[in-house]
Formats: sequence, structure tokens, C-alpha cells
Amino acid sequence: LEAIRCLSDIPAAQAKARGGEVAVLFGARETTFAQLAERQAAVARALVASGIAPGDRVAVLTRNHDAWYPLFFGAARARACLTPVNCRLVAGEIAFIIGDAAPKLLFVGEGLFETALEAIAGLADPPRLIALHGAHFSFEPFNVWLENGGRAALPGAPEADDDVLQLYTSGTTGRPKGVVLGNRNYRRFMEMAAKVDGFSYSESETVMIVMPLFHVAGTNVSLAGLAQGCRLVLVRDFDADAAVEMMQRESVSHTFLAPAMIRMMLQTAAMSAARFDALQTIAYGASPIAEDVLVRARAAFGCGFVQFYGMTETTGAGSYLSPAGHEVSERLKSCGRPWPDVEVAILGPDGASLAPGEIGEIAIRGDIVMKGYWNRPEATSETLAGGWLHTGDAGYADEHGYFYVHDRIKDMIVSGGENVYPAEVENAILGCPGVADVAVIGVPDARWGEAVKALVVANGAPPAAEDVIAWARSRIAGYKVPKSVDIVETLPRNAAGKVLRRELRRPYWEGRGRAVG
Ligand code: ATP
Ligand code: MG
Repeated sequence: LEAIRCLSDIPAAQAKARGGEVAVLFGARETTFAQLAERQAAVARALVASGIAPGDRVAVLTRNHDAWYPLFFGAARARACLTPVNCRLVAGEIAFIIGDAAPKLLFVGEGLFETALEAIAGLADPPRLIALHGAHFSFEPFNVWLENGGRAALPGAPEADDDVLQLYTSGTTGRPKGVVLGNRNYRRFMEMAAKVDGFSYSESETVMIVMPLFHVAGTNVSLAGLAQGCRLVLVRDFDADAAVEMMQRESVSHTFLAPAMIRMMLQTAAMSAARFDALQTIAYGASPIAEDVLVRARAAFGCGFVQFYGMTETTGAGSYLSPAGHEVSERLKSCGRPWPDVEVAILGPDGASLAPGEIGEIAIRGDIVMKGYWNRPEATSETLAGGWLHTGDAGYADEHGYFYVHDRIKDMIVSGGENVYPAEVENAILGCPGVADVAVIGVPDARWGEAVKALVVANGAPPAAEDVIAWARSRIAGYKVPKSVDIVETLPRNAAGKVLRRELRRPYWEGRGRAVG
């Protein structure tokens, strides 16, 4: 790790230490560390030959694919900033991101060519198009593009101030925002990761990547794994059965899963007979987990669990609940304590720190805080006001320094003057027989202002609304109990597995004033 000053040093440093070992397994294809270093250099030269200068954006739109790694490291070496674009978005949403980031090049993966063409159709200054894998007549093939690199001279070594990644937020509460992360952010991230359970690995262990590479969790687990000399097993699309099988076949030691993925894996038939001999830790985060799911998962996987609370704006860092923290039952509701060298605080409306037990906004400070939002000076200064990164999440700390995240402030329901955090209500309902999935929102109500409503996906025969309400009533305070329950087919979730409550709220609030997102 000493030889690694910035992300672009990772392939060469590991090629020296373990060049012949596998860095990435994708489908049946293996890439060694030596090959990764060679491809990184080739990409960096081709970027320079394409006129890419330090600070330029180059975007990539693909499902998880092993071509992502040489591209990322090559861009970092050329001192360009890679901008991954969420491939699950529709063309109009992609157009917004491409228009915002204004990349010079756009690398597109198989199956996304038409979407990309539609997305850039209206742009005054569209990026040059390269087919990362697969082929399409409007796109230059990656290999042909790569050959243009020849012997182009690389710029001097990357600097701490260089922008290295422009990651768009998940877009859970509104339009995604471009978060600019620098080498400095990631250098600190890598130093800390080696000390934090769930991100600290041993050489030659296997780390499974199922989170999307355009999300901070997918990127971070990949970078931490490669920086520590591990083999990555990269999965293109998450499938619960396939993931259970993969973890056993490839002797996976560590992985990061969204709570929704864990829940789906527990529901598979494969799970009951599974044995995870090599498995040491499952990291999870990005959205709240229901306690019932966590308890069942710990029993089923039989490994250490680590919860991460953080966001794109903090390079994914923030607080974490270690495996030992999971042994104390009341801490299962906690998102743990701060990472080393990261400060977490609960701030009141006036910006002052609140005492243990008081509910306020969670704020984060440290070298992992982003440089800023791209093209959004106002949002940047609002979010970074007073030297803290304001998360937009409500929570509190206990007297032992453990943090508890309630939910997003924007999703809070005010019912009869009481604040209700949907995550707590969802958590209470998830264990109810017949409930496979649930989302809770506030809907307009003449008497209460907002009324709590649960949207339930049934597991087999749909449960009766009265049964769901009675189940909740025995677990949470009366004012939090749903006033109504609807059965729905599915819940809208984004690629990071987060429920899009703003979409669920929209039909109820149309023309009625509440900002839905
Ligand atoms: P957008 O900012 O575009 O609305 P987003 O906030 O979902 O999208 P991310 O940066 O991917 O984008 O997610 C960070 C958010 O995810 C946090 O602010 C928090 O609300 C939620 N989150 C992350 N980890 C946890 C966790 N362990 N428990 C509960 N919520 C979490
Ligand atoms: Mg956010």
C-alpha cells in the first residue's frame, strides 16, 4: 500500500508484487495484474492521442464489465476524470448527465448503443463515441481507438488536486448531482479502508463485486480490493440465485451488498443448502436494512457483517458498525461509529452540535468530503455550509458515540404534528407474514395533514390490511402505524436498490403542494 500514492498507481504497484495473479474475473475471462497495468498504459496513451488533457471528463455508460478497470485507471493516469453514467436510466436522464458533465469521449457498452445515441441527439457539442465492447456502426470500436495511442507521451504524474472521479448521486431524492472526487479524497479513503472491517482484506483473497460500478459502493469495493492485492469477481447483473452460487464456487471472502439484495438472496431456494466456507465479511449499506432481514442474514451466511453509512459526497465513507458491534442486540439499529479520521456530528437547525439522544441532521467532516458538486455552486455551498457536509439525513447519537440514522429529512412524514420516519415503519412491517417488501409514504389527509400509508408487495397470498396494521401496532407507537395499506405488484427501486418514494408519493400529491422530491 505504501507504493500507492494515488489510484492510478494501483495496477503497476500490484503488477510488481503479483503480476501473474488474477486481478479481475469476469464471466470466464481472467485479467492478471500485469495485464491490467499494460491495458491501463494503453488506455492512457490513447486518451492523450485523442486530445484528452488533464481535467477533461471522459464518460462511460455500461453495465458492470471488466473493461471498466483499464478505463478507470487509464483515465486517472492521463489525469482525466472518469464519469460513470448509470446505465439503468432512460435516455432523457442520461442526456441530462452527459449534458452536465460535457465529456469529450463517451465509452458505451453492448446493449446501450441506441440509448446513448438518443441521449446525445440534442447536444450541441456531443462526445466522440466509442464502443467499449460489442459493435455498432455509429461507434468506433474500442480496439481500433486503442491502437491510435501508439507512443503518445503521457502527462506528468497525477497530483493530489486532480479530479479523479465524477460520480453522480443515486438520484433517490431528485436529479442526480455530479460529485467531484479528487485523488486526495481517494488517497485518504484507501488509507482508512485498510483499517476498517469490511474494506480491509488480505492479499489474494476474493472480493465479489455486485454493486454497480457507477455507484460509489461498487467503485470503492473494487478499488480497495485491487489496492490490497485481492482478486475481484465482477458480476454483470445481480441475480439472487446466481450470487449465492457464485459466492460458494469462487470462494468469496468479502462482498458488499445492498439490503435489497440480501433480502432477495434469503428468499432463494439455493440459500438453505448453501455453505460459505471462505466467507469472512458481508458489508452492507446505501439504504436502511430491516432488523428482521439482518437477523436472518447473519444466521444464514454465518459470517461477520459490517454496516456502512455514507454517501457519494463523502467518498462513501462516514460511519460503520463492525462485526463486534453486531453482537450487541440494541446496536443492530445503529449505523455504528465514525471511520478513522472522519468526524460525524448531529447538528440542530442553527448548525450547533446536539447532545446524545437529540435528533438532528447528520453531518460529516474529513478529507473524504468531496471537492464539490459539478456545475452547482449554490448546492455545493449549501451542502458544505459551516465546514460540515450536510447529509440531508436525520438521526441521533447515543452516549457511546454510536450513530443512528432515521431516514432522509425529505421523506419524513409529519402526521398530526408528530414526525414519522418511513424506514422505522417499513422495518416494523417487514417481518409480517405475507409481506415480501414494503414502502411507507405520507399521503394528504384532512385530519392529520399527512397520513402514513404502507405499500406492500405480497409474498404469496396478499395479507389483509387489518393484519398488517395490527402487526405494526404491536411494534411501534400508534401515531407511526399506517392508516392505510395498499397491495402493489412491485416497488420502484433505483440501481442502488433504493426505493423511489418520490415516485410513490407523486400520484397522491399532484397539485397539492408537498414537494415530492
Ligand atoms: P440523491 O442524493 O441523488 O438523492 P442518494 O442520496 O440515494 O441520491 P447516494 O450518495 O448513493 O445517493 O446515497 C447516500 C444516502 O443513502 C445517504 O444520504 C442515506 O440517506 C442513504 N444511506 C446510505 N447508507 C445508509 C445506511 N447504512 N442506512 C440508511 N441509509 C443509508
Ligand atoms: Mg444524497
